[in-house]
Amino acid sequence: MDFKELINTNATIKKASQKTPLFWFSDKLLPFSEAAKTTSFSNDDICDAERRLLRFAPFVAAAFGETKAQNGLIESELRRIENAQKSLDSKYKKIEGKLFIKMDSHLPIAGSVKARGGIYAVLKHAETLAISCGILKEQDNYEILASPKMKEFFGNYSISVGSTGNLGISIGIASAVIGFKVVVHMSNDAKQWKKDLLRKMGVIVVEHKGNFSDAVAIGREQSLLDPNSFFVDDENSPDLFFGYSVAANRLNAQLKEQNIHISATNPLFVYLPCGVGGAPGGITFGLKHTFGDNVHCFFAEPTESPCMLLGMATSLHDKISVFDIGLSGKTIADGLAVSSPSAFVGKIINNMLNGALTFKDSDLAPLKALLFESENIFIEPSAAAAFAHYLLADELNNYIHTKNIIPQNITHIAWATGGMLAQKYE
Ligand SMILES: *Cc1c(COP(=O)(O)O)cnc(C)c1O
Repeated sequence: MDFKELINTNATIKKASQKTPLFWFSDKLLPFSEAAKTTSFSNDDICDAERRLLRFAPFVAAAFGETKAQNGLIESELRRIENAQKSLDSKYKKIEGKLFIKMDSHLPIAGSVKARGGIYAVLKHAETLAISCGILKEQDNYEILASPKMKEFFGNYSISVGSTGNLGISIGIASAVIGFKVVVHMSNDAKQWKKDLLRKMGVIVVEHKGNFSDAVAIGREQSLLDPNSFFVDDENSPDLFFGYSVAANRLNAQLKEQNIHISATNPLFVYLPCGVGGAPGGITFGLKHTFGDNVHCFFAEPTESPCMLLGMATSLHDKISVFDIGLSGKTIADGLAVSSPSAFVGKIINNMLNGALTFKDSDLAPLKALLFESENIFIEPSAAAAFAHYLLADELNNYIHTKNIIPQNITHIAWATGGMLAQKYE
């Protein structure tokens, strides 16, 4: 691939290579009824994940007291943030509609969006092993998985993962409760407190000099050498993807509780911080199945590592990295410090994603501070990306205008992806 030529012929890629914040609106978007036919995955896969999490709910409620109130479901609050919206409108530019925050920043157990995908992947693997060895049936009460005998069984197996931090934490916590041995391969972006926390939980932390993609590659290779080791592959994992996707139907119920009914005249706009693409991609896949064309999904990435934007805008997916267009991949948003995107995710959502935007690292601290001052909600830098569209409000407002949507009717959701543990340990 001649990347110089690509930069010269593709205006979006050119702008990205110049590190200029940009809002890309996809030219590959299809009506959802058509987009759904471009992948073999379907609503059945989301339902399968929902049912599995219901089977595990008694176990999760017993193992993690903080989920008891929600009967063992790992779910976060959807909160209207009127004060933050006022502050954002006056500090940046006005965006009409109602602004909400989806507080995956405070998801039980792991305090980040990874508490959806990561924990689901661990539970699914435990279920698969236990069923295939004949010690569990789907009809059982999964609380039996908490018995010492079961823990001993799972102790014969290990799980490993490559992570910039939060995925390792969610996999580490879930695996410890099941009884798996855990190895987390961490990239050079990983924060010290995240490594310390994992080691305290008994997780083997392997530190790598390289970036996220390098850590994943080495972890994948080492895991293959051990037949009892299962590698949760962040670049290529249906389990993570469908674990994330269950957010959609639950969100729909939360919206209805607040008397919000999404329709063509009352659309939903969702802003998702994006790293390798698994979390925002899985959530987008779920949202499109729940709301169809009435939801508009946008990914937010740092100007130095907009890997999904590059993969999606060029359809090159993992055949392009941020280094190919002269970017560093370095960002203070450690959860988003990913240089090449997941091709698995990119291909599934190729015709579903509405667009992607980029922001400067220096925009994150003010957004994070604004949310704390106006709403007393603490989020980590990666999660502040969920508000970065305010820096490109003109582009967004223009998009809304061209879609003939009444701006006041839009429900906007900033998907805050992490924060609770950062507040506690940083
Ligand atoms: C992992 C993560 C993301 C992005 O998820 P990907 O699956 O890597 O795209 C966003 N925010 C936070 C805080 C994360 O930990």
